[in-house]
Amino acid sequence: MTGPPSVRFEATGIEVANGLLWLDARKRRPLGLVTHAHLDHVARHETVLSTPETAALMRRRRGAGLRYIERRYGERTLVGDVAVTLLSAGHILGSAMALLEGPHGRLLYTGDVRPEGGLTCPPAEPRNADVLIMEATFGRPEHRFPPAEEVRRQMVRFARETLAEGATPVFLAYALGKAQEVMTALGREGIPVAAHPSVWAMCDVYRGFGLVFPGSRRLAGRGRPDAAVVVPPQSRREIRVSGVLRVAAVTGWGDRAKAPDVERVFRLSDHADYDGLLGLAKAVNPSRIHVVHGYAPEFAADLRARGFKAEAVEGHRGPDVDERPGQF
Ligand SMILES: [Zn+2]
Repeated sequence: MTGPPSVRFEATGIEVANGLLWLDARKRRPLGLVTHAHLDHVARHETVLSTPETAALMRRRRGAGLRYIERRYGERTLVGDVAVTLLSAGHILGSAMALLEGPHGRLLYTGDVRPEGGLTCPPAEPRNADVLIMEATFGRPEHRFPPAEEVRRQMVRFARETLAEGATPVFLAYALGKAQEVMTALGREGIPVAAHPSVWAMCDVYRGFGLVFPGSRRLAGRGRPDAAVVVPPQSRREIRVSGVLRVAAVTGWGDRAKAPDVERVFRLSDHADYDGLLGLAKAVNPSRIHVVHGYAPEFAADLRARGFKAEAVEGHRGPDVDERPGQF
């Protein structure tokens, strides 16, 4: 064996260590490393290797009754002759990158990644590696985000002004990850939040890991406009609050996600933007890069123009469920 652990790309996942381990496989495998609990990264494997947070979220979603090997960030697990270490990915609660160290080299798989982290998860912890497998959800230069704190301030202002008018601010946000970021940004500024039951179910798991959502409650039945509502886009018709609703979307896609009845778009993402992806490649400084989804061919070409040996992996997975244009 020369070089880092073997890797083979399939439409349903990434096989490493000669089949002993699969990364984010969509099909049941004997041992599946699940980087985080978004549904396009999970399957009912015989054994799941993940962080305790991801295991808890999976048990609440589609992973009840499975066997879990739970590892905290920085802990090592041996799989054959490969040492596997989970490192924070900064994407959502419990999200991890996977560092695989073989006798002859190192491989880093990012999963979904946000270098700067968020209010509900710590920053990503990139390490040097010979081979980097990275996502490219926002891998084109037009996808550069404003500073997250500035966007959070704008969301707070929108919520305050709307409540002061006697109307209800409604934030459309994916139920796991994005919704909790919005709730934290509003709650820490004293804005009451009513969360859709699907969001609230995820918040229960967060609370088990010490994350609190002050001033929040579960959205139930009909109500008066006294709180900001956080709801996944597909559940927005279930809101039964009286009076005027002012609807805002929270998504990295910006105005391209703007439906006719969406008044504002707040460009907050749980993924790296274009500069964040480039910065990540530089930090890892690999001799080879595989780009696995989103704008993979375009981003791989940009990496090559910057001197990296990079290629897009064709036929891997589609874009992320939590961050797809129009489906934030
Ligand atoms: Zn994700």
